Order: sequence, then structure tokens, then C-alpha cells
Amino acid sequence: MTTSRNIVIAGAGIGGLTAALALADKGFRVSVFEQAPRLEAVGAGIQLSPNATRILRDLGIGDVLKRSTVVPDALVVRSGASGRAIVRMPLGAEAERRHGAPYWMVHRGDLQAALVAAAEANPDITLTLGVKVEDYATHRHGLTVQMRHATGFDEEHCIALIGADGLWSSLRSRIGNREKPRFRNRTAWRSLIAAPEVPEPFREPLIQLWLGSDAHLVHYPVRAGAAINIVAIAHDSQERPGWSAVGARDELMKHFSRSAWSRDAIELLMRPAEWQTWSLYDMPELPQWGEGSVTLLGDAAHPMLPFLAQGAGMAIEDAAVLAGSLARSPGDVPAALRAYEEARRPRTVLVQQASRRNGAIYHKAGPEAFIRNIAMRALGGRRLISRYDWIYDWRDG
Ligand SMILES: Cc1cc2nc3c(=O)[nH]c(=O)nc-3n(C[C@H](O)[C@H](O)[C@H](O)COP(=O)(O)OP(=O)(O)OC[C@H]3O[C@@H](n4cnc5c(N)ncnc54)[C@H](O)[C@@H]3O)c2cc1C
Repeated sequence: MTTSRNIVIAGAGIGGLTAALALADKGFRVSVFEQAPRLEAVGAGIQLSPNATRILRDLGIGDVLKRSTVVPDALVVRSGASGRAIVRMPLGAEAERRHGAPYWMVHRGDLQAALVAAAEANPDITLTLGVKVEDYATHRHGLTVQMRHATGFDEEHCIALIGADGLWSSLRSRIGNREKPRFRNRTAWRSLIAAPEVPEPFREPLIQLWLGSDAHLVHYPVRAGAAINIVAIAHDSQERPGWSAVGARDELMKHFSRSAWSRDAIELLMRPAEWQTWSLYDMPELPQWGEGSVTLLGDAAHPMLPFLAQGAGMAIEDAAVLAGSLARSPGDVPAALRAYEEARRPRTVLVQQASRRNGAIYHKAGPEAFIRNIAMRALGGRRLISRYDWIYDWRDG
């Protein structure tokens, strides 16, 4: 096999798989290695805004994805205490008209499955599961990547290595960033429940965001409306790494008391029999995303809090920019990777910061919350959502 256009990607999450498709589209040969032995439908709902759906559509997976996504008519912000709507920000057809691409709500497993199917159908992409990328060595003609699998070790030669290995990226430390993600004292309790199990208003094609003091609740339909994704986020000092730790409802309800939350919100939270917890982390800006012919992408490069719903979106944008940059100067891979990093860093830092700010705004209490609600009403839904134009209008190049 010729190695002159071979690129290795560590991690088959949303970022790694999108990067594989984008690179293959530019004529590269891509080997993706994923440490998990199976790609199960782990995770829950993900929001994909127009900046991300535009790229997925251009990569040819829009039609497949459309079968499982739901288009939200609006983002409705409610008072957690009264249940009353504070503001309704239009999405749906208006967002598509305004930004030239749709807004979708999708189950992470469905998105990953659509990306895997496209990767498997592409003769220039090889996806291998159960293989952990452990190290690399640089030489005159590129890199040798070392990997571990169930029965031993292996090597692969390539012109570039992309660390799309997520929040706990080991390649991030390998290139010299010793700092670890910081726990932000918040836990997300997540559940996916069959749509018929919740009252009709919770099944509407809306993103519904309920704001309380030190806690908020988000829910929206996924899986073509067959399931409802519920996420309740509260301040919490207990760190529980991983995506699928089991969460007790009693513990969740300590943060959503009947005295502080409306009857409707409590009713929804009491429906699921099972919850999973997900501790929230982010990181300050990394001093470096890469060295030589190695770079990072997605959560590995810029872990972020989920309050702007842009984790997957930024990984998808990274993938498109990386592929464009390598296609422009395939003969000088280190220069192409540094150009990609320079192009992406400022934007991802702004999104990380805006996500942190949203978290603080959502969890305000007392008079501050009262003022926030008045300000939101005064601004109105259209003006509030237009504050995200800089995110949704993004285009590569
Ligand atoms: C299991 C899981 C569930 C998630 N659920 C949600 C959710 O419900 N809602 C939401 O908004 N976001 C969720 N996320 C996060 C979201 O997918 C990411 O923030 C976003 O899509 C960016 O993705 P990424 O590709 O950068 O990283 P990730 O999605 O984290 O993917 C990284 C991948 O790299 C693999 N990997 C790690 N180290 C190595 C290595 N050394 N060699 C090979 N493979 C390696 C991991 O197993 C993983 O599959 C989830 C992530 C994971 C891993």
C-alpha cells in the first residue's frame, strides 16, 4: 500500500469519522482506529446547528440522517418555577432560510451510525475497531503510528496522525499538554424515553429549556420523534467520569425540588425509570494542538461545556477545515496542520467561552434570575437567536 497519502485518525467519534469522510473526499487514504471493540448507540441527544449540518450535507450524509432527525420549530425558554414560557426563539424553516442549512436534533448513536455507514462504503477509508493508538515516531518520510489490540501491537505508516480521541485524549498529552480536563462542578443526568410515555406537550418538535436556580432542564424529541431526550443539569461536587454511569432518580430530585420547580417539570423528571450521569468538564485554551505531522481535533483539542450545544458542531467544523488545509498543501503536512490549527483556535476558544457564559446565565437565582427573564422578554426570540448568527453562519473558507 502506498503511504504517500495515508492519514491515520485515532478515534471514531463524531469528529474522527467526519474527518475521515472529509479527507477521503479530498483524495486522501484514511485509516481510522477506534479503541472500543464495538460502536454501540451510546450517548443521547445532540443538537446540530446549520454550521454543522451544512458540512454533513455536503459530505453526502444529509439524506440518510434526515430519516432519524427532528427539525425543531423553536427553542422555548421556560421559567423552571412557573413553567411559563419566557421567550420563543424561532428555528425550523426560519433557521434554514436564514442560515442556508437546517437545525437538527439527533441521537448521537444515529449520527455515528450514519457516519460509519458512509465510511464503510468509501473504498478510501478503513475503520478498525478494538485498536488503541498509543504512540508515534517521526521520521524523514512521515510517521510510524504504534497501536495496541487484543492480541498484541501493530504499526502503521502515514503522512499525518489526527488525534480525534476525545475529552481524555492521550495524544494531547503525548504532544506536550500535561494539563487534564477540569471538572466544572456540574452533573448532567440524562435519559432517553419512548415518546408515548410522556404527555403530548413534551413530544412537540421543540427544544425546551427550563431555567431554575443552580439547575436547568432541556428536552427534545430525537429518533424521528420516537424518543425524547431529557437532560437535567445541576451544580454538583461529585465527579463521575464517563458517559454512562448510572444515576439515581432520588439524587437527581434533590436538585429539582417540588417547592422550586413547576408541576410539569417534576412530572417529566419522574417519568424515566433510568438515568445516566455525565460530569461536565472543559479546559483552558491548549498551548499547542500539534507538533510536526500530528494534530488534534474535536474534544481532544477543545473540550467544552454543553451550554451552547456546539461540541459536535465544532468537531465537524474542525474536520472540514483540516481536510481543506491538507488538500491545499499535501507536500508540506506540518505547514498544513499548523494552518488548520491557526484557523480553528480563535473560533473554538470563543465558543468555549460563550458556553461557559451561558452556563452562568442559565443557573442564576433570585433577583438576578428575575432581571435575566425580563431582559430575555424585552429582547424577544428573534433578537436573542440572532446573537448566535456568528456560530450558525460559519462557512469553511
Ligand atoms: C460514548 C460517548 C457518548 C457521548 N454522548 C453524548 C451525548 O449524549 N450528547 C452530547 O452532546 N455529546 C455526547 N458525547 C460527546 C460528543 O460526541 C462530543 O463532544 C463531540 O461529538 C466531539 O466528538 P469527538 O469526536 O471529538 O470525541 P468523542 O465523541 O469523545 O470520540 C472520541 C473517540 O475516540 C476514541 N478513543 C479515545 N482514545 C483513543 C485511542 N488512543 N485510540 C483509538 N481510539 C480512541 C473513543 O473511544 C471515542 O470513540 C459523547 C461522547 C462519547 C464518547
